Amino acid sequence: MARLRVDPRKDGGTPLALRLSLLYRGPVTSCDFDCSYCPFAHAADPSEVIAADRIGVERVVSWAENHPEAELGIFFTPRGEALLHAHYRDAIVRLSRCTSVRRVVVQTNLSVDLEWLGLAHGPRVALWCSYHPDAISRERFLHQRVVLAGLGIRHSVGMVGLREHLDEIEVMRRALPESVYLWVNAYRRGTGYTTPLERARIEAVDPLFRYSMERQPSLGRACATGEGVVSVDHLGAVRRCHFVDALIGNLEDPDLVQRLVPRPCPNEQCRCHIGYVHLNSLRLGEAFGDGVLERVPVAATAAVFSGSGNRAKALGAE
Ligand code: SF4
Ligand code: SF4
Repeated sequence: MARLRVDPRKDGGTPLALRLSLLYRGPVTSCDFDCSYCPFAHAADPSEVIAADRIGVERVVSWAENHPEAELGIFFTPRGEALLHAHYRDAIVRLSRCTSVRRVVVQTNLSVDLEWLGLAHGPRVALWCSYHPDAISRERFLHQRVVLAGLGIRHSVGMVGLREHLDEIEVMRRALPESVYLWVNAYRRGTGYTTPLERARIEAVDPLFRYSMERQPSLGRACATGEGVVSVDHLGAVRRCHFVDALIGNLEDPDLVQRLVPRPCPNEQCRCHIGYVHLNSLRLGEAFGDGVLERVPVAATAAVFSGSGNRAKALGAE
């Protein structure tokens, strides 16, 4: 899990080693898919929104380039499909060549051609790939994944646990190499939508599904966000996570690093993987280790994903 290490007693609080993950979310919402449950289906962005987002992404890239002492994870978590926009593709290539970047990650539906990734430094790039079988053929998605593998790009694959997609979840599990984690996000989490039988089928694929099914109690609990992980928007505003509005500062504040300290969660519940994965009490950092942003489990865990019983055991799920 990303951590920030500073020694305020030395050099007037200058960070000695900065290990930080930035979760960027700008104003764009455009998407080329039309998933029935998603408010961003086939949304289009006005040119001024795309321009504002481009400036926000450039701010993050420049910040990374201007902090050579840092060890950064940069995670683009758009509301729509980021890779439709050239400024995200360009940013990923640039960040992959930036020595302060440990990894640059993006959430994507894998709809766009991936040749541009050949310009990137592959070992520093990772993709969180969502498979939406109503919008892209299985063959096309699997072809895209093979392209990623050929480029040496780390990736996870995920689906939404819709009742009508249960068969396809199992088919996709069989179609993927055993070492590739197929995660499943609950549809209408915390509502009882998923029956016990459906849950058992999904957990045979993803033993961590139980975390997604329920809203995770978080009030007052320790969470790495606000210290080693922060949310950044297109104006450079820094918050602890996407789900807490309180401002910590701005990316351009000279004393921002000094404000990144441990703090308990102020929300009753945490509803999203990109948030609760940082809750200390869930200990999901042990399953994902260095791949926490892209949702790629540690190698030792991934190696035993091939058998459903072993999957649960390896991930610590009972
Ligand atoms: S691919 Fe993602 S952003 Fe696009 S419509 Fe589907 S769920 Fe929404
Ligand atoms: S537990 Fe979730 S809502 Fe609470 S601070 Fe962490 S990421 Fe934010």
